[in-house]
Amino acid sequence: MDLLDVAAKVLDQGPICDNCLGRQFAKLSTGLSNKERGVAIRTVLAMLRDKEIHKAEKCWVCNGLFDTLDVWAQRAIKALSGYEYDTFLVGTKVSGLLAENEEILWAESGTTHAEPLKSELNREVGKLIWSKTGKEVSFERPDIVVMLDLAENKVELQVNPIFIYGKYRKLIRGIPQTAWPCPQCGGKGCESCNYTGKMYQMSIAELIAPPVIKLSGGTDVVFHGAGREDVDARMLGTGRPFVLEVKEPVRRHFDLAKLRDEINKHANDKVKVRNLKFVDKEAVEAVKSEYADKVYRLRIIFKKAIPREKLEAALDKLTKTAIKQRTPLRVAHRRADKIRTKRVRSAALKAMSDNRATIYIECEGGLYIKELISGDDGRTKPSLSGLVGTDVQVLELDVMEVKEASHAKVLRNKKKK
Ligand SMILES: [Zn+2]
Ligand SMILES: [Zn+2]
Repeated sequence: MDLLDVAAKVLDQGPICDNCLGRQFAKLSTGLSNKERGVAIRTVLAMLRDKEIHKAEKCWVCNGLFDTLDVWAQRAIKALSGYEYDTFLVGTKVSGLLAENEEILWAESGTTHAEPLKSELNREVGKLIWSKTGKEVSFERPDIVVMLDLAENKVELQVNPIFIYGKYRKLIRGIPQTAWPCPQCGGKGCESCNYTGKMYQMSIAELIAPPVIKLSGGTDVVFHGAGREDVDARMLGTGRPFVLEVKEPVRRHFDLAKLRDEINKHANDKVKVRNLKFVDKEAVEAVKSEYADKVYRLRIIFKKAIPREKLEAALDKLTKTAIKQRTPLRVAHRRADKIRTKRVRSAALKAMSDNRATIYIECEGGLYIKELISGDDGRTKPSLSGLVGTDVQVLELDVMEVKEASHAKVLRNKKKK
């Protein structure tokens, strides 16, 4: 069908603005706005019909929406002004009425070159915001999405999170990584948890969050750890990687050295953080999916004293045998019951006296270290207990290092937009 035939049909449907007219042919030429296309088509048709084609009355398709682009842009800029951002994107929730008008027009005119109304609105309001604020549009990862809600006649913001990578050290025992709801009441508060709703009064995530909220102006902080140590184990050495997801931040650029100091002050020598940097959201999956190798320091106790040589031989044997571990009973409620095969990379004796010893073990991520020592009633084979021929238990456990070679690449600094 000829362009002008379609245009004539569009015009015959009722009064229409230049934007809505031009938009029906949006895919036919580049470098023009729909408004410019509309003006051109209206002019040509007027000449062909030898009479002026008025656009006097209110456009029946958009109901005058494109006369109010400035109003929408101003509303958006006002809403955005409460936030720090570098990039934005405009989206539109079209009302049922406008969607219906558009469908009727497409069906009646037979146009095959139209673009949807909301595409044009997003683009035109986006251009106005850009020209007045200088902020860039980002389709992939906008800091803030501005939603134009046409039915409700209001602007809503979706403020995307920021992500901060770091490493933590846990200097005392007895702190879980994240809040642990009381198993008796499920967090509601009861006698056994002293009406706190929690198993432990404080967690690493709760110690870290308040300074982050304060500096970012965010509403919430989600803590993503690269695995977790047992509540009774310390996390020493170089620390364990984590990513903080800060929801709805008011500020996106702040001094991370200051944040580090504030967190360490707030955590009061229980937890210390370091190496903070802004990262992209991909870092969350990277730290969570990683089964990083670990280095542990263990203080162990033997039921019956054994000769030093026997312990050394057993440690050596552990590094030369695949360890088969059935899921320990203590975690069976949250992990599938199956047998995993893991490697001990190195095992070294540091000190020994009477029936006690301090050893260092480096092993694959996902190996249950306490069970490697105790044998877990035969569920872990071989085990240190089994190899030395007497019961061995862990007195104290510290994680000295969480290796992160394989995900280091994803943890580069945040992408430049
Ligand atoms: Zn219109
Ligand atoms: Zn409770």
